[in-house]
Amino acid sequence: MSETNTNGKVDMEKIVSLCKRRGFIFPGSEIYGGLAGTFDYGPLGVALKKNIQNSWWNHFVTNRDDIYGIDADILMNPKAWEASGHVSGFSDPLVECPKCKKRFREDTVEAGTDGIRRCPDDKEVLGASRQFNMMFKTQIGATEDQNSISYLRPETAGGMFVNFKNVVDSFHPKLSFGLAQIGKAFRNEIAPRDFIFRLREMEQMEIEYFCHPSKWEETFEHLRKEFKAWMMSVGLPEKSIHEIEIGDNDRAHYSKRTIDFEFDFPIGQKELAGLAYRTDFDLKQHSEFSKTDLSYFDEETKERFIPHCIEPSIGVERTVLAVLTSAYREEEVEGETRTVLAFVPSVAPIQIAVLPLSKKDELSVPAQEIVKKLRKIARVQYDETQSIGKRYRRQDEIGTPYCVTVDFDSLNDKMVTVRDRDTMKQERIAIDKLEEYFNGKF
Ligand code: ATP
Repeated sequence: MSETNTNGKVDMEKIVSLCKRRGFIFPGSEIYGGLAGTFDYGPLGVALKKNIQNSWWNHFVTNRDDIYGIDADILMNPKAWEASGHVSGFSDPLVECPKCKKRFREDTVEAGTDGIRRCPDDKEVLGASRQFNMMFKTQIGATEDQNSISYLRPETAGGMFVNFKNVVDSFHPKLSFGLAQIGKAFRNEIAPRDFIFRLREMEQMEIEYFCHPSKWEETFEHLRKEFKAWMMSVGLPEKSIHEIEIGDNDRAHYSKRTIDFEFDFPIGQKELAGLAYRTDFDLKQHSEFSKTDLSYFDEETKERFIPHCIEPSIGVERTVLAVLTSAYREEEVEGETRTVLAFVPSVAPIQIAVLPLSKKDELSVPAQEIVKKLRKIARVQYDETQSIGKRYRRQDEIGTPYCVTVDFDSLNDKMVTVRDRDTMKQERIAIDKLEEYFNGKF
């Protein structure tokens, strides 16, 4: 048995093709020729995505006392986006080809030896750079005027800052505490590309963690460690995660420290997540624009101040792509290529496949009984189609960690064969010991 992707690089085309073939991810609006920057999740993709989201939510919200969940609306009062700086400053530099009219993000087109940027397609000199706001504008209500303009949120953070006071007033949390949200965000990217890496519609998992200004360094360090620990818990190898300290000149103006978590994607080492110390910038801005006091009163020290904020932010789709990249393997087995998604069991769309050797009632009925029993502890799929070898390969390809095969011997010895996805080893386990066998594996 040998791995064919020995250079450690996974081919993006292979992941895209597996995702389509096996029902993980499809191009958006495909029967109409697609829509750039959009992708739809199929049955296995949505399961994988939800497992990743649930894992994040459990890690940071359910299993902690100090982080509160929020689910704010995508549409917000447009003043909120003025306060955050998005209306005036959420833009990328855009250049246009005067001949073919194609538009590019300036920093993605390399200048020639003469220092001039030319259209990658027809080599025309590109026009002057101008700022392009990436927020999707929309119109609220029946009248179309300046007052009816709103935006699809470009990040989930805003919904948390505007609810800071609501949570303080209803839960009286003690600092340090955080707000967390998983939700859709929209960016009119100039050049969406690289499968689900750069999208126009995406989901983010974000935390706004508030602390006393004197505590920002220890809070930053705590969240840095927790963030990385979570990434590793969903199957990203430590060696593929790179923490990049962003220099003074490259940070957003409000940030005093930012670390980008870059990952070895098939397209190269690129940003997966960010961790930013945003000071009191956001709460101050929202206080000023909304004329609402967003300060915090510490009962113990009798001090009133605007808390400082640390923000860990990660895209769901980039996490899905990182998980797929980390799990993808091709192995040579008996002269054939075996494709495996070696997901950690907690994120695998299906955790156990139950496979009767024959469709006949004498095997399918007891197999269905096993499905019922195991569904209490795991995500289980029943499959009686095709040969057993083909079914094993299919389960390997969709990342199912265990297969349970019911054969004719099972009728007499009341045992089944459990096959491990990674080692392909098989062992006989008594049917009434199956729950015990799988206990703790997921
Ligand atoms: P990039 O530099 O790649 O455009 P960014 O620095 O603008 O990303 P942030 O504003 O920090 O990204 O957003 C937080 C996270 O949201 C990113 O780390 C990334 O995981 C995800 N994200 C941002 N833009 C996109 C996009 N267009 N498609 C998919 N995910 C995205």
